[in-house]
Amino acid sequence: MLSEFELIAKYFTRPARTAALGVGDDCALLRPPAGLVLALTIDTLSENTHFLPGADPRRLGHKSLAVNLSDLAAMGADPRWFLLAIALPDVDEAWLEAFAAGLFALAEAHAIELIGGDTTRGPRTITITAIGTLPPGYALRRDAAQAGDDVWLSGATGSAALGLAHLKGKIALTAEAAARCIARLEQPAPRVALGQRLRGVAAAAIDVSDGLLAGGDDYELVFTAAADRRAAVEAAGRAANVAVTRIGRILAGAPEVRLLDRAGKPLRVEPLGFDHFR
Ligand code: ADP
Ligand code: MG
Repeated sequence: MLSEFELIAKYFTRPARTAALGVGDDCALLRPPAGLVLALTIDTLSENTHFLPGADPRRLGHKSLAVNLSDLAAMGADPRWFLLAIALPDVDEAWLEAFAAGLFALAEAHAIELIGGDTTRGPRTITITAIGTLPPGYALRRDAAQAGDDVWLSGATGSAALGLAHLKGKIALTAEAAARCIARLEQPAPRVALGQRLRGVAAAAIDVSDGLLAGGDDYELVFTAAADRRAAVEAAGRAANVAVTRIGRILAGAPEVRLLDRAGKPLRVEPLGFDHFR
């Protein structure tokens, strides 16, 4: 059986590339790029709450980082570094091998570097802190929407919830639809490239990990942009190879969501996003 230190050395240690000091010391050391703002985010995936026992470890490695990259994307940040705190019930090398493969494949695709973490024994839980950078003044903040802005959605929402319902036996999808929806659930593609291209184009942005109205786990971006930026938003979507759809408009007044059907008639909606304590 591997010791904690052997486990870290074998599965979670890669040579530092952009960090001044990576895994191995009490702290990692970073040289913040001159003039840029740091964007920091943290997300946890825990067994039973965020993934089912027996979830594919390669896909879990991917998703653990993807959910954090999605937050960087929703801020318009460039991914740089991340820290990984992992609790494991046992040392299962086949599981670790697959988890690390999924994690590092996505990390390499986005040029984000693992610089440290913590490894403990306990119920399977993965917490990642991701760090990105941004030019000052360009963050896509949630509070930046202006009356008159268009509201846009990247990709499409709902597939992940269908995949989960299928896995739980609540619905039966065709084999082809099941594979597609389960891949959306277990291996979401964080919209990093879109977030980067929306800097200076969009006003406000948020990732819809907990559902646009219901469902959840989609990791799409909802963002606003001034009506005279429609062509620029569409160009950003094309450049990032992600569909972007105009779904609404920001009105002046107290914040409230008004949902209209195709004919423009109001639809009643309950707040349906996921809340851990309700
Ligand atoms: P400390 O006792 O100082 O907290 P640890 O023994 O927890 O140190 O970790 C030793 C080194 O390994 C540290 O540099 C830490 O950042 C790194 N590390 C521990 N676990 C992980 C992990 N899962 N992924 C990446 N680095 C890790
Ligand atoms: Mg530690």
